[in-house]
Amino acid sequence: MPRPPARDGGSVFLASGFLLARRPAPAGPGASLLLNSGTSSYCWTSDFRPEPRRRHVPRRLATPGSPGRANLHIAGHLIPRLRDLLGAQGLLDEPAQFARYAQDWSGDLAGCPLAVARPATVEEVAGVVRLCAEAKVPVVPQGGHTGLVGGAVPSPEGEELVLSLERLDRLRAIDPVNFSMVAEAGCVLATLHRAAAGHDLHLPLSLGAQGSCQIGGNVATNAGGVNVLRYGMARDLVLGLEVVLPDGRVWNGLRSLRKNNTGYDLKQLFIGSEGTLGIVTAVALKLFPRPTQVQTVMLGLASVEAAMALYAAARRDLSDLLSAFELMPRRCIELALAASPALREPLAAPAPVYVLMEASASGLVDLAALMEQFLAACLERGSVLDGSVAMSEAQARGFWRLREDLVEAQHRHGRHLRTDVSVPISDLATFMAAADDAMAQHLPAALPVAYGHVGDGNLHYNLLPPRGLDPAACEALLHQGEELIFALVDRFGGSISAEHGIGRVKRAPFLRRLGAVDRDLLRAIKSGLDPAGRMSPGRIFTLDES
Ligand SMILES: Cc1cc2nc3c(=O)[nH]c(=O)nc-3n(C[C@H](O)[C@H](O)[C@H](O)COP(=O)(O)OP(=O)(O)OC[C@H]3O[C@@H](n4cnc5c(N)ncnc54)[C@H](O)[C@@H]3O)c2cc1C
Repeated sequence: MPRPPARDGGSVFLASGFLLARRPAPAGPGASLLLNSGTSSYCWTSDFRPEPRRRHVPRRLATPGSPGRANLHIAGHLIPRLRDLLGAQGLLDEPAQFARYAQDWSGDLAGCPLAVARPATVEEVAGVVRLCAEAKVPVVPQGGHTGLVGGAVPSPEGEELVLSLERLDRLRAIDPVNFSMVAEAGCVLATLHRAAAGHDLHLPLSLGAQGSCQIGGNVATNAGGVNVLRYGMARDLVLGLEVVLPDGRVWNGLRSLRKNNTGYDLKQLFIGSEGTLGIVTAVALKLFPRPTQVQTVMLGLASVEAAMALYAAARRDLSDLLSAFELMPRRCIELALAASPALREPLAAPAPVYVLMEASASGLVDLAALMEQFLAACLERGSVLDGSVAMSEAQARGFWRLREDLVEAQHRHGRHLRTDVSVPISDLATFMAAADDAMAQHLPAALPVAYGHVGDGNLHYNLLPPRGLDPAACEALLHQGEELIFALVDRFGGSISAEHGIGRVKRAPFLRRLGAVDRDLLRAIKSGLDPAGRMSPGRIFTLDES
């Protein structure tokens, strides 16, 4: 393998939303979300029956006597008060303006907002929440609409007010000595990367949707991404939060302290709460020294077991500088290549399993030499079959596109099962083999597509049904597939959601796995903060859950 040239001390390559960038932007105020249109793909879970993608039909103006009329009555009182508070820019109440706010990136669900509030200050967010509490109207916060479990999509009945954070997008402070920044919830993640880089700092939260997702949404979903193995999930990067509570009060927990051991860590309650406990309005984030050297490598291996052994070796031998470790069996590479003809075979000869690995460093380390030594030892031991080190940022981007275009390839296939499970890292290879066996035995016609951030034990074990299957048979097949995968997850002590969350789509399997004590604790938290159940009802956990 050739030794890569030293990086020019410049920018770190981050997986930068290629999928999203290729799609045409919809019209609409402040439009930045690029919806996935033109295919009929959607996710499916056991107790969730998705509807095929269809044009948004605003039900708010439906026939007399429908729920829409009652909502119009409520809106008649609430809307003028919201308009007084927010001005014309801050409120959308015409159904023609709703399309952008009625769906998320997946297009799995279509909803209808009662109206869309777009506050530009924390005081305005608090005012909207107070007015909605008085009018008994549920509120659903919305970030960049890239969530994959339907949490930000309003109900189709037109009874929920969408509160979009898109205008609350100021970077309040950046502190190069404290290695921290304070950003408002509506800041787009990629914008924060650039802001940090401008101060020679690094915000390591990095995911395929970073050109559209917002930091408030990342915190609300406790997003993961490609750098978790080194820097942790969003939860590990948050130093403080500012949150508007369901009664409209503002909780100021926006401190940038590294150490604060004064009792309960309240901010953790809101991280990963998916809008059900309050609205995140600002976030204090940890930053890191900006890496000045990055090594991106694509390796071919004989098996998943070999890949996991390589992972353990890389963590130790690369001086704890490993930042990403993505696994893709050959089938995934073939799917990505078929979907994106501009992409090229990453290695000279096909391999059964591929690993996309990245290490990064700042300071005086010679990362290229370290990587070269590590890879030479791997080749000598025979633990890797072949490999290619990215010689330029463009080549590194090409490797990452193989990983990211795989998602698009599955969308193009149409209807499929999408999961984001996790098991202990040491069990991942056994889990994958057990899942493959279960599929071969029970669902031989389906095509498993399994890949993921395996450095975190996180696997997308997805299932593509055979083409031409009638819709009922397809649903039955995907239902069975999910049940089989989740049963294995239980057997391995894993999680049915490693990073996408519960939202509306995964509620049923989530609720089924709760014990009595889990339910009591969840009920205590929800009733303590949102006794009326008006924050994002029907997501994660509701008070009427028995
Ligand atoms: C191509 C692609 C790749 C992805 N890769 C990853 C990945 O690697 N790792 C990962 O974890 N996720 C991934 N995701 C999922 C998604 O990007 C994350 O869940 C992201 O954090 C959602 O942010 P958002 O701003 O788009 O939130 P939205 O989709 O707008 O909302 C998500 C949830 O958060 C709530 N919410 C939003 N903003 C706020 C707020 N300010 N206060 C309170 N609640 C709020 C919403 O009500 C909803 O329940 C990916 C998605 C796509 C489309």
